[in-house]
Amino acid sequence: MSKVLVVEDDPVVQAALVHALTDLGHVVQAVGTAVAALREAGTNELDLVILDLGLPDLDGVAALRMLRGVSNVPVIVATARGAENSVVSTLNAGADDYIVKPFSSEHLAARINALLRRTGGSSVAPSEVVVLGDLSVDLAQRIATLGDCPLALSRREFDLLAYLAQRPGRVISRRELIQAVWGHPYVGDDKTIDVHASWLRRKLGETAAHPRYLHTVRGVGFKLAAPE
Ligand code: CA
Repeated sequence: MSKVLVVEDDPVVQAALVHALTDLGHVVQAVGTAVAALREAGTNELDLVILDLGLPDLDGVAALRMLRGVSNVPVIVATARGAENSVVSTLNAGADDYIVKPFSSEHLAARINALLRRTGGSSVAPSEVVVLGDLSVDLAQRIATLGDCPLALSRREFDLLAYLAQRPGRVISRRELIQAVWGHPYVGDDKTIDVHASWLRRKLGETAAHPRYLHTVRGVGFKLAAPE
């Protein structure tokens, strides 16, 4: 479950990429210009960027250099150009890998997995345990404990907790949670998320009126933080 930004101006290719990446379980955003990509990379926490080299507003190499100015996010360059020197110059400009169009979604998935493994991404490292106050969330073992007490969480409850725990103190929107935890687009279905949040909250031994770890930010989403 990684946040991937697709930068591609061809709407057909963009839609295909978004579809393939969503199927692979990623949270996907798509933009069609280098300027929009820079804005996203500068303001959002991303795990991976897939960058088309032939964009309407900026040359791919220039776009990549500017991207590197605002973010260390891993970048896979997607290029229709077979020319070896364009590949070399993009790698020199800071790309982590490249893939030549047209490519299959299996090929793309393999490249992404290899890259996220190498870079650590925010995809889960095997031994990662997030600790917030007395709460500890073992992402690999899928065990959450509060104090010494293991929490009996459903799969969704754990996924929700884990997603929030990996972003402590940050307010995560309902839209992002629905996409990341439930893997489907947000269509205003707040009830699903509210119900799961309230179950999770009960298991954490707290209430919405007196939250300790799980905070509702009205009109926005949720955040998980250690008690003050
Ligand atoms: Ca293009």
